[in-house]
Amino acid sequence: MKMKRENQDRYYKFSAYLKERFGCRVHKVSIDAGFSCPNKDGKISKDGCVYCDNKAFSFNTRLPARPIEIQIAEGINLGRKRYEAQKFIVYFQAHTNTYGPLDILKKKYDAIRRFDDIVGLSVGTRPDFINEEILDLIESYSKDYEVWIEYGLQSIHNKTLAFINRNHLYEDFLKAVELTRKRNIKICAHVIIGLPHETKEDILETAKELGRLRLDGVKIHPLYIIRGTKLEELLKSGSFTILELEEFAEVATEFLKYLWPNTVIQRITADCPRDLLVGPLWILEKGLVLDSIEKKLAAKDIFQGGSS
Ligand code: SF4
Repeated sequence: MKMKRENQDRYYKFSAYLKERFGCRVHKVSIDAGFSCPNKDGKISKDGCVYCDNKAFSFNTRLPARPIEIQIAEGINLGRKRYEAQKFIVYFQAHTNTYGPLDILKKKYDAIRRFDDIVGLSVGTRPDFINEEILDLIESYSKDYEVWIEYGLQSIHNKTLAFINRNHLYEDFLKAVELTRKRNIKICAHVIIGLPHETKEDILETAKELGRLRLDGVKIHPLYIIRGTKLEELLKSGSFTILELEEFAEVATEFLKYLWPNTVIQRITADCPRDLLVGPLWILEKGLVLDSIEKKLAAKDIFQGGSS
């Protein structure tokens, strides 16, 4: 993998990684494979994470349930037409995609084998719903595909994880990374900047830990508030405030500084349908968000992994 500074980008963009790795335009097809979440269905909690509404996170969850194959076929068509993509990664996105018996997991993941031009499998899950058997299964796809697992972490601070009702600890994430690392599976961590009651120092401690762990990928999300969630209630009660764009860009810039240069930044913005979004409204202007980050990186002469 190339170091970021060789191509002059200030952080290691996923698009650049995909181009290097596959030599063509690759589109990620996100699907809702019909899994549930143990943090919502009562297995560990009925309340879910305070910010959670998968309708906001996942396009396919907003539609009536459809077979996985149809979602993949449509995603591939869209990727070809809109983005001129030639290859595809199927991303099992909605809810907890390792939550089920092994034979059901295999049946769902096997859907990717019915399509040409799929080069990757990416599985999103909670770090406390993984074990050796499930990892064996996921790793088995690495013979034919690049395989990623994305662990929802959000923060390394157990105080924050308790407040947002994650119902797992940072230590669960560390265990999951340890179990996964010895395999041919790439690891991505999903984190959120702007969680209630986290200071800039707290957020940067998360960045430093991720830097220490030298993960393959990180997704950085600005916190946003979805209508009807517990987080909306908390916001209305004045329990916390949301970040302005300038504040987010400032922290995101510093965050990048602490990451390993070879960690691919899979995203640094967020998507949410306008009608579900309470705020901040600036997340809808992705170009502006990316531009603000680039400007701050340039002004401070920061590169991912340090300053020049
Ligand atoms: S773990 Fe994911 S799907 Fe489950 S409640 Fe939290 S955000 Fe929602």
